[in-house]
Amino acid sequence: MDYKYMPEPYKVKMVEPLRILEKEERLEAIKKAGYNTFLLNSRDVYIDLLTDSGTNAMSDRQWAGIMMGDEAYAGSENFYHLQETVQEIMGLKYVVPTHQGRGAENILSQILVKPGTYVPGNMYFTTTRAHQEMNGGTFVDVVIDDAHISDKEDVAFKGNIDLQKYENLINEVGAENIPYICVGVTVNLAGGQPVSMKNLREVYELSQKNGIRVMFDCTRYVENAYFIKTKEEGYQDKTIAEIVKEMFSYADGATMSGKKDGIVNIGGFLAMNEEDLYHKACALVVVYEGMPSYGGMSGRDMEAFAIGLKEALDFNYIKHRVEQVEYLGNKLIEAGIPIVRPIGGHAVFLDAKKFLPHIPQNEYPAQVLAAEIYIESGVRTMERGNVSAGRNKEGKEYFPKLELVRLTLPRRVYSYAHLDFVAQAIINTYNRRDEIKGLKFSYEAPVLRFFTGRFERL
Ligand SMILES: *Cc1c(COP(=O)(O)O)cnc(C)c1O
Repeated sequence: MDYKYMPEPYKVKMVEPLRILEKEERLEAIKKAGYNTFLLNSRDVYIDLLTDSGTNAMSDRQWAGIMMGDEAYAGSENFYHLQETVQEIMGLKYVVPTHQGRGAENILSQILVKPGTYVPGNMYFTTTRAHQEMNGGTFVDVVIDDAHISDKEDVAFKGNIDLQKYENLINEVGAENIPYICVGVTVNLAGGQPVSMKNLREVYELSQKNGIRVMFDCTRYVENAYFIKTKEEGYQDKTIAEIVKEMFSYADGATMSGKKDGIVNIGGFLAMNEEDLYHKACALVVVYEGMPSYGGMSGRDMEAFAIGLKEALDFNYIKHRVEQVEYLGNKLIEAGIPIVRPIGGHAVFLDAKKFLPHIPQNEYPAQVLAAEIYIESGVRTMERGNVSAGRNKEGKEYFPKLELVRLTLPRRVYSYAHLDFVAQAIINTYNRRDEIKGLKFSYEAPVLRFFTGRFERL
């Protein structure tokens, strides 16, 4: 087959016009935003690759579902649909709806993470770790070392847990001080890198042996299943649904942000097999989110979410999504631009340390690179480096090995033509990289500083 690519597996039924500012206006806008792309007004952005969170395009069927919202305060029909869908797809018994992923993380952490406990995970996620730490726990990274090396590309499953590191932690602190292990499928901050089925199975066995729960952060589980199908021996002939079912057979529960692989704009849940945990979660969900039959979502949100979860299992959908990411990544590789390899499931990650080797990490190279890409083209991207990593309990910056800029593709939103424009914007920025200088904070929030931090040019 000599087609350049398979086109989008959908056609356009409604459009949202795009607007691009003049260069001087973009300079003004990013300065006003304190060189933080999170603080730009959406109307000043041309192509928005800030995040794939809640930025998805819903299908006609999901919009039809929106009209079927049962907005009863308690016992909404749409909740039962969502619950059945989760039970059917993941095989988990109990479902507690939340307004988004961090709502589920909050409840799970409050129930299980006590001061002095340790929560291992395959690289941290910003909100997940924040909740663990706010409850007095210590996050311990047990991802394989290769995950921290941006150009190590011969590793198919860079999100895997290093079983030796995990076992060492159990021996050091004692299994009774580890309430659960959080397994991210895929690992967002490592570059959307997947975990193999073999690794999931082994992690589950080791955890069971030690009486430790396995909780998935299953926000991106369909992307993970796609990689298992295409990369792992023995899964080529299985459907995405079958792979997902097997993945969750190695979990005791999960937190999920529906804003990603749920293909909706808002929503999430916490699910588990343990009845006692479920009752504790229901007691907390009413405090933070709402009744256990809506958890911060409207009936129509839950309906669209239930439909989206099923649509995401379509092989042609997920294949196209991951192929779009690969297309953009390969264009950059051809141009000699340093990116994280292999290319992950939801985004292309630029290696800012290599892109801007003259800027030290305490001058936030990824932060300034994201700002420069905006100035160049109106394309909005996100810093995932030292600014996102924040500070530890002693107030010291983490200086993570990976200092990245993320180009995240919303689901079913942009075409290949948009991606060609984005690639050229990055190439143009790369060609003038020597002129770019670092940044310093002018305002820094104590937690999750990347959302609201403001910067000045050095
Ligand atoms: C987005 C995300 C979360 C948090 O979900 P929200 O819906 O934004 O609160 C947690 N984990 C991962 C891997 C994510 O990508």
